Amino acid sequence: MSQGNLQIIDCPPKHLEDYHQFTPEIVDEVQTLANHFRGLKVAHVNATALGGGVAEILRCLVPLQNDAGLQSSWYVIPPDDAFFEVTKQIHNFLQGKEGALTPEQRQIYIEYNRFLGALLSKIDTDVLIIHDPQPAAALTFLTGAKPKLALWRCHIDTSTPNRSVWDFLLPFLKNFDHYVFTMAEYTNSAFPQDKISLITPHIDPLSPKNIPMNKEEAKNYLTRFGINPSQPLITQISRFDPWKDPKGVIDAYRLAKKEFPDLQLAMVAQMATDDPEGVRIYEEVKSYAKSEAGIFLFTNLPDNDLAVNAFQTASDIILQKSIREGFGLTVTEAMWKGAVVVGGSVGGIKLQIQDGVNGFLVNSPSEAAARVILLLKNPQLKSQLSQAARRQVLDNFLMPHKFLQYLQLFSKLNLSLLLPQPPNLPLPFRVLPP
Ligand code: UDP
Repeated sequence: MSQGNLQIIDCPPKHLEDYHQFTPEIVDEVQTLANHFRGLKVAHVNATALGGGVAEILRCLVPLQNDAGLQSSWYVIPPDDAFFEVTKQIHNFLQGKEGALTPEQRQIYIEYNRFLGALLSKIDTDVLIIHDPQPAAALTFLTGAKPKLALWRCHIDTSTPNRSVWDFLLPFLKNFDHYVFTMAEYTNSAFPQDKISLITPHIDPLSPKNIPMNKEEAKNYLTRFGINPSQPLITQISRFDPWKDPKGVIDAYRLAKKEFPDLQLAMVAQMATDDPEGVRIYEEVKSYAKSEAGIFLFTNLPDNDLAVNAFQTASDIILQKSIREGFGLTVTEAMWKGAVVVGGSVGGIKLQIQDGVNGFLVNSPSEAAARVILLLKNPQLKSQLSQAARRQVLDNFLMPHKFLQYLQLFSKLNLSLLLPQPPNLPLPFRVLPP
């Protein structure tokens, strides 16, 4: 344990101007506001460069922040099997799993964060943004000067955390200056209201995963994976994780298949490096699927972004049958492509899907199956929901929105005053949504 160094992730450049075509007013506002923070050093720290929503967000946010004149960087902590076993448990406990950390697990978490604290001390930054619980205690163990602002960005659903695990983390979390959650429900009154801001994740409409793909081409693309383009297809794109309810997805599929015998189900996953549980759950799901014809399980597909794009574009319906979901970028990505999503009525999925308006919210495999059947039988309904789905993402969940929300937060916290020469510009004041 305690080896390795921080990995700096080198993101290809992106240009704000290119996003003007989607949300011109937001991009203009970003450009104006960003002038106040030129030169501000921002360091993002998280646990993985691959797999999961946080990596997806940082891959776009960091280069855009740089394009706007901030000095933004992204650091990934060195991997450690024992530590990641513990932090995946912590993730599960914070999302409500019962049980407790053993003294040994607590020790592993603390000691690894002590090691990370020493590594993070070497980063020269004004603002340190630590994402999620894995490296959250590292702030407590910084050996040098503290950054001017330390912010904890929690992406998971902490609305009903396991009390003992939350209480274990709380003394470490209390050292942050400010907290960002996705939804008000997740803040669970642990921190003073004036130290909390809400920012939702967003997608990059220009990433290879989200650029428009022709539906027929997408269908053809999927034939390489054994998918029959002339049979209906439903897909869930998610890590193999208990909260994504993979067995419930198979149950829903089996029920819908009674009406549509040639229905196919694809479950597409990327094994995140910080999620050791993924392989175990995959094996469980595989045995639950019993090699049934029509069920396809995929992990770490080649050309991941293109493959995800093809599945989201070509599928008749996208499922996201989570029973807890911090946000669910897969929902956003699919809705952006005009796919109709049948999603679990939980957490961030409820922020995105309005039941019956731009998708469907469900509470059980049988409800999911009923919605799948309804949609497969009603192409007109599907087309209505599809248009509303894309609109929802355009209006609320494209990356320039997120960048703006961060800048608004920086304004609220008067971060421009931290700069050696604060810009002599009138600061447009805008209150963040509650
Ligand atoms: N993802 C991917 N390839 C896969 C499965 C998932 O690139 O095979 C991506 C997916 O497109 C999304 C992210 O992983 O961008 C998952 O984010 P989400 O917020 O849905 O869930 P999380 O994994 O963070 O809980």
